[in-house]
Amino acid sequence: MDACEGIWRRLVDERRLPREDWRLLIAHAGPDLKEEARSLASAITRKRFGNAVWYRGIVEFTNNCRNDCLYCGVRRSNGSVRRYRLTHGEIVAACAGGHAAGMRTFVLQGGEDPAVSDAWLTELLSELRTRFPDSAVTLSLGERSRKSYESLFMAGASRYLLRHETADPAHYARLHPPAQSFSRRMACLRDLREIGYQTGCGMMIGSPGQGAEQLACDMAFIQEFRPHMIGMGPFLPHHATPFAHERPGDGETTLFLLSLCRIVLPDVLLPATTALRTLLPDGCARGVLAGCNVVMPSMTPETERSEYLLYDGKPVSGGVKETLAKLDAELSRIGCGLVSGRGDHPATRQQEGGTACRTADAAWRR
Ligand code: SAH
Repeated sequence: MDACEGIWRRLVDERRLPREDWRLLIAHAGPDLKEEARSLASAITRKRFGNAVWYRGIVEFTNNCRNDCLYCGVRRSNGSVRRYRLTHGEIVAACAGGHAAGMRTFVLQGGEDPAVSDAWLTELLSELRTRFPDSAVTLSLGERSRKSYESLFMAGASRYLLRHETADPAHYARLHPPAQSFSRRMACLRDLREIGYQTGCGMMIGSPGQGAEQLACDMAFIQEFRPHMIGMGPFLPHHATPFAHERPGDGETTLFLLSLCRIVLPDVLLPATTALRTLLPDGCARGVLAGCNVVMPSMTPETERSEYLLYDGKPVSGGVKETLAKLDAELSRIGCGLVSGRGDHPATRQQEGGTACRTADAAWRR
């Protein structure tokens, strides 16, 4: 073990750390400590969730965006993107395909598209809730008013993903133009939680200007906010953004941070993100071994998928069944497997009881 032994012991005992200890741990942890973190996170995950990994289908239904995040390939200033917005019919059809493959959570994600009104979304949500009453709908549409979040919750969305991106205000200003405000992002997260959504925050690992100090802010924020979900993957450059020539995030650091999140929040829903799977060929299995318990393959029609390129290398092909079969094969090599179900956070789970276990007849195989 290395110099961080005392801090590590404290983390294991108390499941939280003061910010300065997070900084020291993240800056100085050596390979032994990282392996110990992975092993503890893995043990916690298997104890809580067995060897089951939930799968959700993500529909990237609009790439129109009024924002100009410096890292993101669909930022407003990128004139080389063909902009699209799926119709209700196309979204419902994508969900039907996912449902047939066993998906019981649909994640509707998009840029901040001014044409996506509350009325448009409410109608879509009511259609999805009627067609798929056994499934949950997660939204990931960025910042909206509290009133809007409330009406979408009333219309049947039960979860919302809004990555905080960084909990350090100065770093936030490095990643976003001045029109985008750190305090507004944080206010949105608080609103979502108060309204009753299962709420997800998260950050990229290795974004430009990020070091141990910024990641320590993130961990301090996460342990206070106690999100239900955390979306965390490596930063990967996109060729048509101001960060085109920045270095990508590091896989080992991403896996270490995932393990730390699992240790702090044993019940958290933690996806092995698409960015992690893009960076590491066996990123799904590596993520699960580090504490992940969710995977979110795309159900976006392939013609649009290539236009929702947040970073270079994001996978643009592959049908739902084929992708699920590949992920399940990857997971079976580590003794885990995909399991169909809503996969609510344990504290809010109403429709499913007990720990999930691997279903031998996962619906997508049929
Ligand atoms: N408009 C929505 C959805 C954004 S896309 C929102 O604001 O929440 C989902 C996530 O992809 C972002 O929150 C960001 O963390 C991540 N992302 C964007 N560009 C990325 C990049 N270049 N590398 C890695 N992740 C990226």
